[in-house]
Amino acid sequence: MPLRLAIGPRDLAAGVVEMNAGSRRIPRRRNPVPLASLATSIRAFSTRSSARCFERAVALRASKTFVVDSYDEFKAKIESGGFFHMRWCASAACEAKVQGRDQGDDPLRPFDGKVDAGPCVVCGTATDSKRAVFARSY
Ligand SMILES: [Zn+2]
Repeated sequence: MPLRLAIGPRDLAAGVVEMNAGSRRIPRRRNPVPLASLATSIRAFSTRSSARCFERAVALRASKTFVVDSYDEFKAKIESGGFFHMRWCASAACEAKVQGRDQGDDPLRPFDGKVDAGPCVVCGTATDSKRAVFARSY
């Protein structure tokens, strides 16, 4: 998040700096910060804005993450993008089908998560592993 600092003669005489988010989307308001504590204020702003960015990214990822149990559902949703957790037999044939027809990227095999046995969404072969994550690269 960009940070905007403005200082004029009156601010300097008062020992303050005008500090606001540099984004045009956020309305500016008068936010005088004492010059003596400017470094601390900038550090706090950076920490808050980083936390907000991280929270937004986590929320966006959650909104674009789908647990999919049918290949038709995957094909319908892949055009809109996202992360698709699917049971997958890990065969080269199924991977080639997903990558070739639907232009999915290499599947991700997560280290964490629980085993979720069931049929591969592509070929129906029984699987007893964790769900793989498919997505399309941009
Ligand atoms: Zn399969």
